[in-house]
Amino acid sequence: MNDPQNPALAAMMQRAVAERVYNFSPGPAALPAEVLQQAAEEMLSWHGSGVSVMEMSHRSREFESILAQAEADLRELLQVPKDYRILFLQGGAIGENAIVPLNLMRRLDAERPKADFVVTGTWSVKTEQEARRYGEVNIAASSVEQKFVRIPDVADWKLADDSAYLHLCTNETIVGVEFQEVPEVGQKHGRVVVADVSSHILSRPVDWSRLQVVYGGAQKNIGPAGVTIVIVREDLLGHAHPLCPSAFNWRLAAEHGSMYNTPPTYAIYIAGLVFQWLKRQGGVPAVEQRNIAKAKALYDFLDQSAFYRNEIDPSCRSRMNVPFFLADESRNEAFLAQARAAGLVQLKGHKSVGGMRASIYNAMPLEGVMALIDFMREFERSAA
Ligand SMILES: *Cc1c(COP(=O)(O)O)cnc(C)c1O
Repeated sequence: MNDPQNPALAAMMQRAVAERVYNFSPGPAALPAEVLQQAAEEMLSWHGSGVSVMEMSHRSREFESILAQAEADLRELLQVPKDYRILFLQGGAIGENAIVPLNLMRRLDAERPKADFVVTGTWSVKTEQEARRYGEVNIAASSVEQKFVRIPDVADWKLADDSAYLHLCTNETIVGVEFQEVPEVGQKHGRVVVADVSSHILSRPVDWSRLQVVYGGAQKNIGPAGVTIVIVREDLLGHAHPLCPSAFNWRLAAEHGSMYNTPPTYAIYIAGLVFQWLKRQGGVPAVEQRNIAKAKALYDFLDQSAFYRNEIDPSCRSRMNVPFFLADESRNEAFLAQARAAGLVQLKGHKSVGGMRASIYNAMPLEGVMALIDFMREFERSAA
């Protein structure tokens, strides 16, 4: 924003840009600076409309074009098939833990509605616990006994024959495990697989032959908190429990083009700017290559060090969330303080895991990861 009419504002913007740090927050997480600058420029008047996106009617032509563009860009980025609907909802992924069973558990008209769950970390535990309020929960597999360091072998999953769906959390943000692919478990013959993709959506392509519903909150890898994205195969709409709140009924949301109730308009607008940014980056395949390089650099560094360690089985380490520990945990506070001073923030691990965690979503450049590695190497050296 270089407004010659307003040098004070221009100076303020320049100072803010210079203050930006590498932000490893698990969520709400870093956004591309380019996107934030564009939003700042469009804040007071969007595209000559004279109003901010925040001040627009969701029924206005302007906002309808913002929503339509965001949906089209997301469909293109993730190669979403024609028979899948994209919904922009509210309630977050924790909301979906109830909304998914309310929309899907009665799909089979079974006497007792039932769903399968593979438990691979903190988030899938929360999901199956919430689902118990709505039907029978079959824990098909769990790695809780292994402290979630690996994903249970698919050959050992005990899936029920009469379950309405199987739920997976394909990237466990807190423990740091990620499915490198979703296995074939009968999707070809009608099994429905639902995935919580909150923390790795758009970091890699989606195999739509293996996933029939994906959902996620936006605040990890897309945009601000407040918008929840649900992508659902069309034939799965229309099975909602009669007590499902209308605002959370996927069929109603789809019929009304995500406008059954007022959608989170500003969050959708920012998400749309991120989709455009992703397209300028070369789309999901190009971003995936960068994510592979970032994760490899960090894990390679951790693995050659006796000072730091990551405990996750290499077959399922997350490219997005990298938990690690210092061998000498008495240095944790010093590590965090010195990292902060070096412009590397939000590295403290989740309280249930301890240690550190670097979340390196799409918006984290390779330079940020290299700066972290340089800092860690120097911290190790100075501690010797
Ligand atoms: C952050 C997160 C959640 C919780 O999201 P809310 O927006 O707080 O509901 C659920 N699942 C996963 C995988 C997450 O990363």
